[in-house]
Amino acid sequence: MNDETPVLDNHMHLDPDAARGMDAVDDFVHLGGTHLLVVNKPSWHLGVESTDPEDFRSVFETTLDIVADATERLPGRAWPILGVHPGLISRLIDDRGCSPDEAADLMQRVLEIAAEYVESGDALALKSGRPHYEVDDAVWGASNDVMKHAFELGADLDCAVQLHTEASEDLTEVADWAEARGLDPLHVVKHYASGRLAGPTPSVMCKKEWLETAAEHEAPFLMETDYVDDPDRLGAVMGPKTVPRRVRWLREEGYDEAIETAHVETPKRVYGIDTRRTLG
Ligand SMILES: [Zn+2]
Repeated sequence: MNDETPVLDNHMHLDPDAARGMDAVDDFVHLGGTHLLVVNKPSWHLGVESTDPEDFRSVFETTLDIVADATERLPGRAWPILGVHPGLISRLIDDRGCSPDEAADLMQRVLEIAAEYVESGDALALKSGRPHYEVDDAVWGASNDVMKHAFELGADLDCAVQLHTEASEDLTEVADWAEARGLDPLHVVKHYASGRLAGPTPSVMCKKEWLETAAEHEAPFLMETDYVDDPDRLGAVMGPKTVPRRVRWLREEGYDEAIETAHVETPKRVYGIDTRRTLG
């Protein structure tokens, strides 16, 4: 791997208590990885089962600690992305007796706490979205309200918003909601995207055919693994070595411009981060 090339995984989770812990970061670095965007794990994975928004601060504090540890090991650095997993709405309604509106209100207040960390400079961006599974109209509407609130916060703070949504190659309606609130759709990132997406910026999962599509499309895109998202979905996420491996593969296939797009230009345009200047 060329030492001058930044290699960014745009969506990874790390867990200090998991079996591998920081070894995942070492694996990433060993294969040529340089920068990470670390998204907080879903709150219930970290033992927060509360309906008090203040109790969610521990999820964010844990993530900031992980990011500091990861940065020590990276030739570049890591940044935290903080927010609320959209699946929380079902847990609040089904397990904790909330109405859809009460659940949405709680999730919006947790997003406001995440926004405090962005405002102070401790976090880079926000995370929101809506369920990727079937829900009834009331839950769908409440979830969209949460996401729209995230866009308002992102516009106020001038920060990006990563989304977890249903699989789609057309999220122009969602992009319009962001734009109507003053947030450039370029600064809205769909995590777990396939190779092409109308509306927000796609963060492409590292399947070769999806990367090839993105590389040939010549639009802004990012690359990710979603490493350690959900223990129930282990087969759906990729290992920490995958992004650097796929960068090497893209280089072999002659996609040098796409590498520059995904690891330098798009991170700069979407998040305002300079992966080249923060390297070494
Ligand atoms: Zn994830």
